[in-house]
Amino acid sequence: MAEQQDVLLQAQDLARHYRVSRGLFAPKATVKALDGVSFSLKPRQTLAVVGESGCGKSTLARQLTLIEPPSAGALHFGTTDAASADKATLKALRQQVQMVFQNPFASLNPRKTIAATLDEPLLINTRLSKAERLERIEALVTKVGLRSEHLRRYPHMFSGGQRQRIAIARAMILNPKIVVADEPVSALDVSIQAQILNLFMDLQAEFGCAYVFISHNLSVVEHVADEVMVMYLGRAVEIGPKATLFAQPLHPYTRALMSATPALRAADRRERIPIHGELPSPLNPPSGCAFHKRCPMAQSRCAAEQPLLREVAGRQVACHLV
Ligand code: SF4
Repeated sequence: MAEQQDVLLQAQDLARHYRVSRGLFAPKATVKALDGVSFSLKPRQTLAVVGESGCGKSTLARQLTLIEPPSAGALHFGTTDAASADKATLKALRQQVQMVFQNPFASLNPRKTIAATLDEPLLINTRLSKAERLERIEALVTKVGLRSEHLRRYPHMFSGGQRQRIAIARAMILNPKIVVADEPVSALDVSIQAQILNLFMDLQAEFGCAYVFISHNLSVVEHVADEVMVMYLGRAVEIGPKATLFAQPLHPYTRALMSATPALRAADRRERIPIHGELPSPLNPPSGCAFHKRCPMAQSRCAAEQPLLREVAGRQVACHLV
């Protein structure tokens, strides 16, 4: 039970399937955007979710932030099951899980000043007085690297990096337990990315929140993560501590992803393992292991039998050959 209490978030076989039309007379098809993902998140932990675009990362973000319900599986916040939570509990859960989006320009209301943007969640969710709200807003904008006079300005008056600082402040204003960040630096200049990543880490040290950090960039993941979950076509293929996963990736897909990431030090460079072909359509996923048509190690068994996640060398891997 003590272990259970240490877990902030537990996803069990989480799935999200969509029924989509394939044409006027064709029967509807099912897209398995997320197909049975399980993991847990502890307080102050950063779980990075990596994979190519279309692998289910953003669908997962929408499930975790309760924007849409899962088609199957369970999501527990502490001991609370989100599926059976009443309205008031769901409202409280939504305060505890906040989101930072990829594009800070699209995620901020252009007609609202920064003060109004940051005040809105406090106005709706707290009983703080106007003076108390302003005090909290001013303290937070300073922590994210902006100044009080910025509060009177509108989003278009800021650079991309500053806008993302505002979006992060908005996510933090209710002091959430979990922040889900969906590619939060990929729309920013490379020179700004490290500053924003460091801001995420500073805020985590100060507020003690946990992050689910979604990124296709392994250099970013290496910078921020404690745990890493590699996803392929809606499923997790490898989950483990960052240090071991980066030192010795086991799943062929993880190995190929890592070999494609440029390393600064010659000692860290890996031999490039090419991944051929495109990510298959989730409308028509391959049989057996979803990676088998692109995997350099594939064998006949791989096309017939879907590998399940199992414990290997201190992590979980879904591959017949590992
Ligand atoms: Fe490759 Fe087979 Fe392992 Fe899938 S199960 S990753 S196809 S070796």
